[in-house]
Amino acid sequence: MIGPMTVRPIVITGEPVLHRRAEPVTQFDDELRALVDDMFETMDAARGVGLAAPQIGVGLRIFTWQMDNNDGVPARGVIVNPFVSPSKPAVGDPDPDEESEGCLSVPGESFPLRRGERASVSGYDVDGNEIAFAATGWFARCMQHEYDHLNGFLYVDRLNERWAKKAKKAVKRNGWGTPGHTWMPGVDRDPFGHDDADDTDDD
Ligand code: ZN
Repeated sequence: MIGPMTVRPIVITGEPVLHRRAEPVTQFDDELRALVDDMFETMDAARGVGLAAPQIGVGLRIFTWQMDNNDGVPARGVIVNPFVSPSKPAVGDPDPDEESEGCLSVPGESFPLRRGERASVSGYDVDGNEIAFAATGWFARCMQHEYDHLNGFLYVDRLNERWAKKAKKAVKRNGWGTPGHTWMPGVDRDPFGHDDADDTDDD
């Protein structure tokens, strides 16, 4: 059965599916297509630049993106069973103005993280055809962020000591870090204030 596209609730840090490795997709069928449709619908409603399946509570290796790039890759896409190999991040502390990241599963928060400037990305489209491309800049960051989700890591797990401490406090302050917390894109107040013409990228 294929129903209409549905916006799904986004799970928040503490939900176990976010903190374990997602399983490979084995069937490229209508069920997969319906799931991916829901992921696009949910990402759009949340004004996200990326969404990984575990963020809607589905422990499968799939992510979507919506991000202009300089790499000749369609701004809107999905990849199944991906492999993302980043370049080594530059040495030094991240710049809060230039390298701050957000995540729909840590809603409303933002912390700086240094990542590789480039990433090679390969995997499959929804029909099971192989795809591969190189990503740079913020698009490479997005690929690394989403790929981390499939391996059970959030960007806040990768912060340096100073920012990790602040992130931990923020999670505690929000009452997260335990199972059962979600938010509903398009219903709950936009956690990143996109309605107020905010320009941060959150995935
Ligand atoms: Zn995220």
